[in-house]
Amino acid sequence: MARQARFRAVLAVREFRALWVAELLSIFGDQLARVALAVLVFRETDSAGLTALTYAFTYLPALLGGALLSGLADRYPRRELMVVVDLFRAIAAAAMALPVLPLPVLMGLVFVLALAGGPFKAAQQALLPTVLEGDLYVSGLALRTVTNQSAQLAGFLGGGALLVVLDPYLALGLNAATFLVATVVVWVGVRHRPAARASAPDDDPDSQGTRAALRLIWRDRHLRWLVGVSWLVGLYVVPEGLAAPYAASLGASTIVVGLLLAADPIGSIVGAWLVGRIPEKASTALITPFAVAAGIPLAVCVIRPDVAVSVALWAVSGAFSTAYLILAQASFTRRVPDHRRAAAVGIASTGLLTSQGLAMLAAGGLAELTDPPTAIAIAGAAGALLSWLMGASWRDPHADEPAAADDIADDTAADTDDGARDGARDDDGIDPGIDGATTHPDITSPYPSSSAPPLDGPAAERGSGGATPTIVTRRPLLTLPEVSTAPAIAPSRWPRGWPLWRAPGRALAFIVAVDVAAVGVTAYIGLGTGITAGALTVFAVIVVLGLVVAELTREVERVRRRFNDSPHVNFTSVWVIPAGVLLPPILVTSVVAVLYLHLFWRSWYRVRGVHAYRLIFSAMSMILAAHTVGMITNGINTTEMAQWSELATVGTVLAALLAFAVVNSGLVGAAICLYEGRLDLRRAYGSGRENALELGTLGLGAITTLLFVAYPAWPVLMVPALLVLHRSVLLRQLEEAAATDPKTGLTNATAWANVATREIERARGGDTVVGVLMIDLDHFKSVNDAHGHVVGDHVLKTLAETLSRSVRRDDLVGRWGGEEFVVLCPQTTEEDLVGLGERLCALIRTLRIPVAVPGHAGIIDGLTVSIGAATYPAVGPHFQDVLLAADDALFVAKDRGRNQVRTVAVAEDRTA
Ligand code: GH3
Ligand code: MG
Ligand code: MG
Repeated sequence: MARQARFRAVLAVREFRALWVAELLSIFGDQLARVALAVLVFRETDSAGLTALTYAFTYLPALLGGALLSGLADRYPRRELMVVVDLFRAIAAAAMALPVLPLPVLMGLVFVLALAGGPFKAAQQALLPTVLEGDLYVSGLALRTVTNQSAQLAGFLGGGALLVVLDPYLALGLNAATFLVATVVVWVGVRHRPAARASAPDDDPDSQGTRAALRLIWRDRHLRWLVGVSWLVGLYVVPEGLAAPYAASLGASTIVVGLLLAADPIGSIVGAWLVGRIPEKASTALITPFAVAAGIPLAVCVIRPDVAVSVALWAVSGAFSTAYLILAQASFTRRVPDHRRAAAVGIASTGLLTSQGLAMLAAGGLAELTDPPTAIAIAGAAGALLSWLMGASWRDPHADEPAAADDIADDTAADTDDGARDGARDDDGIDPGIDGATTHPDITSPYPSSSAPPLDGPAAERGSGGATPTIVTRRPLLTLPEVSTAPAIAPSRWPRGWPLWRAPGRALAFIVAVDVAAVGVTAYIGLGTGITAGALTVFAVIVVLGLVVAELTREVERVRRRFNDSPHVNFTSVWVIPAGVLLPPILVTSVVAVLYLHLFWRSWYRVRGVHAYRLIFSAMSMILAAHTVGMITNGINTTEMAQWSELATVGTVLAALLAFAVVNSGLVGAAICLYEGRLDLRRAYGSGRENALELGTLGLGAITTLLFVAYPAWPVLMVPALLVLHRSVLLRQLEEAAATDPKTGLTNATAWANVATREIERARGGDTVVGVLMIDLDHFKSVNDAHGHVVGDHVLKTLAETLSRSVRRDDLVGRWGGEEFVVLCPQTTEEDLVGLGERLCALIRTLRIPVAVPGHAGIIDGLTVSIGAATYPAVGPHFQDVLLAADDALFVAKDRGRNQVRTVAVAEDRTA
């Protein structure tokens, strides 16, 4: 009911009627010309191939026109542009009707005709949101979708039928007439409006409309999402391209092809009807669910349903894809400011056509490799997955809310903050990961999608388009779109800013060698191996499950990255190992590539210091490790994996797991050692517990492989198991982090005091001694003063490492605060304690610390420390007594000229 009322209301708008009729006429004319041309070419050349080529050729200018000429509809008044273009097309079409023209000229005219369609369509689409307001706009788009599809169909069928009775030249003449009628309809039915760009601030007069629109889309993540998700529709038209082979693979007759082809338009009509009923408020929120829903029925095609079910599935998919496309288009057009609207719409629709062509091509290839149902299912699953991911990551959840003053202020602040940080980021050469707790702020566009184009009133005050954003504090609140959004990728993320280039030569060489080897190995063993439908199915399941787990654990993973810098331990091996055992090399590499891209994009990217080259290197090591697994298990019969009586098979699998761990961890660890120029196994290979986790994931990988072999549906149950595991790992890491001093990696004061208290309690029971050293750097302030705090921090870190390395295994070094350290030495007599103190004192005297921050390259040496020592039970029965005594002793050491160890006995001496 509501829908009919709305459609009627839409048709009651005079300007909409005119635009609508003009578009229908234009589509019909275009199709008629195409068919007529095809007939002529065939008549003259008698070549089916050439005819098809001519036909395909007419799509090229449509693409070019959409991409390059749409901006004209922003620069000139839209009604007048439409009239001029259609007049021009009418003349061109009339010329085509002259039987005297040679074929090449005819084709040239068709080319021009299709080219001119771009700005016409862009002008029409850019006018629609102005002509139809509020809910009516979406209903108008829905109506248009239904009728356009019919017009296209009518153009083909009707064109074919007309050409049976009409001479092709006469048909071309009829075409000219449709353009002429359209011209009149627009002229009479649509009001004059000034050029959209004229009313806009002259922000960048030199820039091509297309370039500026591209920039606008790229910088606004909501627009990026809308464009991205609508281009995914390419995946959903794949069935149309594969209808005939699909029917054949079901063993159905040709008539079924027609049924299958009809499924989509019928679904589309239902989808458009659905959309017409949706309240505007809900429309953006429904884009992702609809887009995902459009893919699922196609994915079901993998089970080869019979004809009736297939038709139903395709229709449902068509309904949802049309529905989401209309909503996305509406949201997109309204969000773009009016003066960029036509160019932006041109870009979006060109991309849409291109994506359809590309997806069709790819699906054709895939169907050759496997079979049509599998190809369609993969397209559907990919579409559902990608639209979900895009919705989760690019969609701006606040895009539908009216922008508040704070939002804009925040945006601007984030912007300048970012700029400042970018400048600073290149300077931080010491350790890119150490302070990595800053997130990259999400940039949102300041104006709401539902508001009218934000260019009236105060907009005129918006500065001169310089580099600094101007904030207008009266309503509506606006900033210039081109400057209000920061680039999505900070400059130092680009390869030029990678700290990699400052790495030692051997590290660089090693990293590049591993990358090249991984690509080479994939190419070498991957070439010539066939991909079966079964393997593709396993691949698809692995990728989907891997992505689902990665997506659901991505917050946890991001937090994990901040605490933990050992890069090779993550949960990808659970999926990479089955891939290595079961899939051909190309697909193994693809699994790793997809999972790592996702990790980087969703989990690591925002963690400062995790640069793309680190991801690439980790992925490449993983690829090599996976291929090692593949090579080792190549000869085995995987179904025997489960039989422990088949010792050779089981042994091979275990050997493959071991090799995986050795290759993966070995390469990453070696890279870290080369990078840092020293052999620190703990730094290179992570803690024992991290490695236990790694072994755990290997085991899970083996189990998942078994499941894939024996019960292909059961790997799904790995998902909840992994989710729980992931969270418990985070919990452990949080506990560790709570006890760790972030600057030095030592135990922090609280945790150290807890351990010390417990140790003294234990000593009391066991009747033994406990020693405590308190260490303070001498004149450390002067290091800071001379070289700055960054160098000071670096010195503190090095000192902490030196201390940890120099004490006994049972001793515990902690950071007490500032540049003060404490050492807990269980079962240590005063004599031994002083001995240890003297040793540390001497060691630090000889320490030479290289620093390499810009402007402060060189060596820092000549550091000294003062140390106070005290033992339990000599100084008192409690932890506090020992601590105070050590502190006293330290005071004495400072007092007596620094660079020495003092005990509490001397301290008493002093008080005496
Ligand atoms: P002395 O101990 O020999 O008396 O001289 P000092 O200069 O070391 O004096 P004190 O221990 O009182 O000063 C502590 C200085 O250590 C102050 C501050 O500049 C520096 N400092 C403390 N914590 C940090 C830190 O985390 N990083 C850096 N870079 N410097 C710190
Ligand atoms: Mg000091
Ligand atoms: Mg101090």
